[in-house]
Amino acid sequence: MPRIRYELPGGLRPSRLTERRVFYARLMDYAAAERWFSAFPGERLFALILGRHSGVYPRRFRSLKNLSLLVEDARAVRDLRPYLLKYLPEGVYYDRNAYASVAEARRTRLDYAHAWRSGLFLGQELAFDLDPENLDCPVHGDIVAKMRRHQGLSFCDWEFEETRRQAAELHDRLAAEWSRLAVVYSGRGFHVHVLDADAYALTKAERTALARRYGRRFALDEWVTSGEMRLIRLPFSLHGMVSRVVVPVPRGRLDTFRYDDARTVPAFVRT
Ligand SMILES: [Zn+2]
Repeated sequence: MPRIRYELPGGLRPSRLTERRVFYARLMDYAAAERWFSAFPGERLFALILGRHSGVYPRRFRSLKNLSLLVEDARAVRDLRPYLLKYLPEGVYYDRNAYASVAEARRTRLDYAHAWRSGLFLGQELAFDLDPENLDCPVHGDIVAKMRRHQGLSFCDWEFEETRRQAAELHDRLAAEWSRLAVVYSGRGFHVHVLDADAYALTKAERTALARRYGRRFALDEWVTSGEMRLIRLPFSLHGMVSRVVVPVPRGRLDTFRYDDARTVPAFVRT
């Protein structure tokens, strides 16, 4: 019997390459993605992952399929378009680090993983990544049981709804300390972004303390909050493993938001 690697609820499925091409050519809202960055300081890097989780990628890029491919010369989201149409990635990300100049970082061969001490580093956007696989599901068990079955990226309706409930609770708790919060549906779970200027200035130690504090209560990927994992999904891009658009969800609509919401289902799924 073939091993079923991923189980996804409600008709969620990986996108075909032809669908990715249609999305990046005609459906992606590049202007909305650009507006997401309107209040951000400095410059940023983008990254593409071609086929690491879906196993779907253009055959000629087989050697690159599992890598995070950095795009260093896209200053605006629209500059990504030729790269998206060439590589047809399953996922599009940005580095939450803000740099004074990416061109200068590239020229001086800055090691992005150790940018904190560089004069080009302006700060890092604070974010919380809530993943359904980190939940202890009454049906599917804990993360260890899921990994044992090679289903670390699977999720069910119970896990989706519990992740959404946690995103709302986390948002409301963070609202006591921060004022510019955004919840984003990431395709499987939710991200809570903190866009306050002073959140960019947090030290690594302060971020680690936040990750530990909230990680005790929420199904967090603590590496994202601590800053070790810098990449996060670009809002308005396609999550190619589930064929859903990554979208910000206003807090007032979060409690009833579902992965079949019209804003997140791309036209190629509906037709
Ligand atoms: Zn489950």
